[in-house]
Amino acid sequence: MSTLQYFCRKLHNLTHPVLGRIFMLHRVVEHRSEDANRELEVTPQFLEQTINDYCNQGYRFVSIDKACAIIANGRSNRPFVCLTFDDGYRDTCDLAYPLLKKLDIPFVVYVTTGFADDTASMWWYGKTEAMNWEQIKALDNDPLCTIGAHTVSHPRLSTLAEEETRKEIVDSKRRLEEMLGHSVNHFSYPHGDYNTTTLQVVNEAGFTSALKAWGGNIRKGDANLLELPRIELNEP
Ligand SMILES: [Zn+2]
Repeated sequence: MSTLQYFCRKLHNLTHPVLGRIFMLHRVVEHRSEDANRELEVTPQFLEQTINDYCNQGYRFVSIDKACAIIANGRSNRPFVCLTFDDGYRDTCDLAYPLLKKLDIPFVVYVTTGFADDTASMWWYGKTEAMNWEQIKALDNDPLCTIGAHTVSHPRLSTLAEEETRKEIVDSKRRLEEMLGHSVNHFSYPHGDYNTTTLQVVNEAGFTSALKAWGGNIRKGDANLLELPRIELNEP
């Protein structure tokens, strides 16, 4: 980075203060895998410690609806943290939920509907680790939890034609709404992957927000709710 770029960045950051951050998580497990899936996993102890650390530093934990309102307003007296869990693993219900309930922390679960319907497989785990509809509905019944959509079969959306993109996005929204009995307004891109067609379809489908899989803090002025950055929460 040149000196000029450095100062431009500094100036931008001064005039665009951090509003908060959205953490991306996948699995919460007692014993982490020894293979590449390890990076998708945190222990309940690590999650609890992280939440306590952020609370002690003055952050407040908010729902995705609240986060969107703060971002749209561009104002927050305390920085926020929003916790998100992708894919809809069984342990989100079995291990993450009891902990978040105990600590009274709101969270979002982005469900890939084909995993719950058993029409798509979590190939990276070799067997299904997905929640069933009963578990998804149980989470949905708690006001702490927001259920969002994460496509039907977890594809790389940028590789699909428009018609297939529409099917993946609109059908997952419809399926969730049919099973939960209310509208589903938030989306996250599988693999954080999207293109201009994806954005157009997500917009037309009527989602309030759509989340990427990278990108750092959210700053004042980052008002594009359909390309919200996230930070992966990794356990060392
Ligand atoms: Zn995913």
